[in-house]
Amino acid sequence: MGEAIEFRKVTKRFSGNTILDEISLDIPAGSVTVILGPSGSGKSTLLRCINHLEKLDGGTIRIGGELVGYRQKGNALYELSSGKIAAQRSRTGMVFQQFNLFPHRTVLQNITDAPLRVKKQNRQQVLTKARALLQQVGLASREDDWPQQLSGGQQQRVAIARALAMDPEVMLFDEPTSALDPELVGEVLQVIKKLAHSGITMVIVTHEIGFAREVADNVIFMEGGKIVASGPVKAVLDEAENVRVRNFLSTVL
Ligand code: ADP
Ligand code: MG
Repeated sequence: MGEAIEFRKVTKRFSGNTILDEISLDIPAGSVTVILGPSGSGKSTLLRCINHLEKLDGGTIRIGGELVGYRQKGNALYELSSGKIAAQRSRTGMVFQQFNLFPHRTVLQNITDAPLRVKKQNRQQVLTKARALLQQVGLASREDDWPQQLSGGQQQRVAIARALAMDPEVMLFDEPTSALDPELVGEVLQVIKKLAHSGITMVIVTHEIGFAREVADNVIFMEGGKIVASGPVKAVLDEAENVRVRNFLSTVL
């Protein structure tokens, strides 16, 4: 399998502070990568760079070989037009800690909105697919509900269905269960687990180590804007000879 996502010396700064420090990383197509690391280490920023929600201060990111956010001319990079960025972004689904559903649209409308409006797909096909996705996340009977009628776990499952409705090549999850009451975490992790290894490349920031062990192919451990450990899940978590990784694990387990 080829590389779905390639980071080459990616640097990101905020007001003079280096938040991502020359990150290089290869994520194989179809794999599941879990990102661990303490708060403030740059995990969300790294995810946000993948769909160009953040501009880079150095380096490049490619998805499926295609440069993200920029076009290259000679040695110089020029940012893409907003239309091209939006088209590129639609190949990447993102699920946030706060589910961010549209409050004034029903569950079904939340899912059909982007395929209809952005991709201008056929209405009947979009509806059929949205209902299949609701079935997949276990919410077939809730299509006419408003987001606020659902529990946090149900809302997050709708958010996942909404992202999948765009047929993304890559799914990014930024602490998808951190805002949930503990008893609702399992149902969301279950949905994510079912998606794993279905062809979509997945990058997941989470503190759920048990989940990481079950679904991840690879784990990346970040600290201070750098990757301080990475590799197959077992190697990173079990043979955590890296003292910083071990200390971190002892705080979240
Ligand atoms: P994590 O997700 O690992 O907790 P983040 O990527 O959110 O870390 O943040 C890494 C660092 O970058 C933090 O110190 C944070 O304050 C800073 N940061 C993130 N986004 C911004 C922003 N838009 N402006 C200024 N600083 C930011
Ligand atoms: Mg974060």
